[in-house]
Amino acid sequence: MKLSEYGKTAEDVKALVKKYMIDTYERYNFVCERAKDMYLYNEKGEAYLDFYGGIAVNSAGNCNEKVVAAVRDQVGDVIHTFNYPYTLPQALLAEKICTTLGFDKIFYQSTGTEANEAMIKMARKYGVEKYGKNKYHIITAKKGFHGRTYGSMSATGQPDNACQIGFKPMLPGFTYADYNDLESFRSQVTEDTIAIMVEPIQGEGGVIPATPEFLKGLRSLCDEKGLLLLFDEVQTGWCRTGDVMAFMGYGIKPDILSMAKAMGGGMPISAIVTSSEIATAFTAGSHGTTYGGNAVCCAASLAQVTELIGRDLAGNAKKMGNYLAEKLRTLPHVKEVRGKGLLIGIEYDGPVGLEIKHGCFDRKMLVTLIGDRVIRLIPPLILTEKDCDAAFEILKEVSETI
Ligand code: PLP
Repeated sequence: MKLSEYGKTAEDVKALVKKYMIDTYERYNFVCERAKDMYLYNEKGEAYLDFYGGIAVNSAGNCNEKVVAAVRDQVGDVIHTFNYPYTLPQALLAEKICTTLGFDKIFYQSTGTEANEAMIKMARKYGVEKYGKNKYHIITAKKGFHGRTYGSMSATGQPDNACQIGFKPMLPGFTYADYNDLESFRSQVTEDTIAIMVEPIQGEGGVIPATPEFLKGLRSLCDEKGLLLLFDEVQTGWCRTGDVMAFMGYGIKPDILSMAKAMGGGMPISAIVTSSEIATAFTAGSHGTTYGGNAVCCAASLAQVTELIGRDLAGNAKKMGNYLAEKLRTLPHVKEVRGKGLLIGIEYDGPVGLEIKHGCFDRKMLVTLIGDRVIRLIPPLILTEKDCDAAFEILKEVSETI
């Protein structure tokens, strides 16, 4: 939809949103009318350099042409069927994801939080079936983020964050341990514990990568105690960190893995994958979804995943991530640059994050802010050295003004 076709100005659009929409976002002050590759465009055709990728979604580039073509092709045949008939996009995508990632079974959902709900439910049900009693307790990490529905929200170890204040009580059965501290996790295991659930890199928590010893230690702890290891790769998944999935860079494998965001190229699709044995926990009627596995979303996801793998965008994420991070370390007022691949957090030495974010926006570059001092860069993975240089120059100019 174009503003001119509807006789609207950018100010009209903003006024309508302000008047009618419930306001939970700090918006970039422009109307996005078109997006392509590394840029978003306003109604005047002015370009904004994309270093947030729709929050780690548009990894093969905004409006990737293969994804667009797949959607156009599928939308004229079948949009939605529910999960009663078989459809080709579902089947081909299931094969592609399971064989690429080395898991036996997949279950589709629509959003990251729903994939995590499915993962939590599957772990609990598996516990009942394997141990004959309700083993419900799941240990998650402080400062983690798993979503905004009650299960995922309760798994989120941020009791004092705005995402939990006013919504209590949380669902029982979760305790929070210190990230990167194996002993903290070990000390919380009880006879009711069924799983440990973490992100391999805490994204919303400020871009905190797990140490290899920590993740390997969690794997051994789970094996020793008969627990399931659950990885939330909603943000880290699909080439973002320089590996197809972040877990692959650590030489261990979770028992259940959740994914969303980049897998759909902008269409709402998410999933969990697991082994045949654990998957038996879900049977007809025990879990379901109206939109999960939607034909158009699956067709888009198949095109997106094929692009990400076929163009080795994990390799590009690793190369460009290293190139950019090195440059960012020379910026003034920067305490630390951390992350993996193209999930980068720049921590400033004071609460200047909003100023930096706005300064970037004024220079037509889009970044996200975590807390008051961490600028997160999560661009499309197609970016080049030239894009990195352009972003660096903007960040340098802005950082020098504070
Ligand atoms: N898990 C992680 C690690 C996330 O980063 C997010 C979103 O940022 C979610 C879950 C929730 O995903 P969604 O917003 O699609 O529900």
